Amino acid sequence: MTLNSLTGDTVNSAARVVRGIDELRAALAPARREGQTIGLVPTMGFLHEGHVSLLRAARADCDLVVMSLFVNPTQFGPNEDLDRYPRDEERDLRLASEAGTDIIFAPDVAELYPDGAATAVEVTGGLTSVLDGDPERRGPAHFRGVTTIVAKLFNIVGPDVAYFGQKDAQQAAVIKRMVRDLDFPVRVEVMPIVREEDGLAMSSRNVYLEPADRIRAVALSRALAAAEQQALALDSLQAGLDAARIELAAAAIEPEYLEARDAETLEPVEGLTGRPILIAVAARVGGARLIDNVVIEPLGD
Ligand code: AMP
Repeated sequence: MTLNSLTGDTVNSAARVVRGIDELRAALAPARREGQTIGLVPTMGFLHEGHVSLLRAARADCDLVVMSLFVNPTQFGPNEDLDRYPRDEERDLRLASEAGTDIIFAPDVAELYPDGAATAVEVTGGLTSVLDGDPERRGPAHFRGVTTIVAKLFNIVGPDVAYFGQKDAQQAAVIKRMVRDLDFPVRVEVMPIVREEDGLAMSSRNVYLEPADRIRAVALSRALAAAEQQALALDSLQAGLDAARIELAAAAIEPEYLEARDAETLEPVEGLTGRPILIAVAARVGGARLIDNVVIEPLGD
């Protein structure tokens, strides 16, 4: 980002695109030497306002903003959408530049997973075996792929701060645990879910929705809003979950899961506990598998 000398406005110059690990480390070295702070925003591209909100937060907090753009094959299951995952690098470069990104790290698969790559980072236990990590769903291997690539990006970039979205609440909880357990010297910031005007959580995968399914898909956010409202109004988590199920059923959506869990540990909860509670939903709507969530914060005394 530079300053227009005539108007004083900030001008977002094009971000520098870097494909190689060595080149990226060399590009970051001067900033690191000068003690500048580095912010990292990991993405799989096909940017929307959710990604942009993370880039803006990084821009506001850090001297240097790095966005990674990499569709990470190790977090996709054999029957998932790796081959058809939407891509538009040119548009991503433009949007990231407009949001003030300094460097876009866009390596190819061989750069990050050279032949013989045999090491993974895994957060074990309850954080990765429930919700999306249930073996009947995406399974723990999905999160192993996520933590492996994020650990690699932390090692390559060495960020002071890394930005993730609450949209992927379980992913954020897993990454926070990895950072704590492996002593990564990075602060993790989790930013709020950015939604379309009608409430649908923004997602690169929303392009899979046919028009009629796009309308039905709003039921997920409606269900979560109903859950929060009813749970708090009736002081009953069960009443909240019941209200959510009614909203989903009205749109003929059978969720893969609709569950209430402790927002940090992801342990099951029976009722309102006085701690933040995550209500998470996943459902297939037409050609898209969608996830969304809300956190019910405890009411103050
Ligand atoms: P992805 O490209 O889907 O891997 O997402 C990259 C980052 O953007 C992740 O940390 C996501 O949680 C975050 N993200 C995706 N969608 C949203 C959204 N609607 N609001 C806020 N953050 C989001």
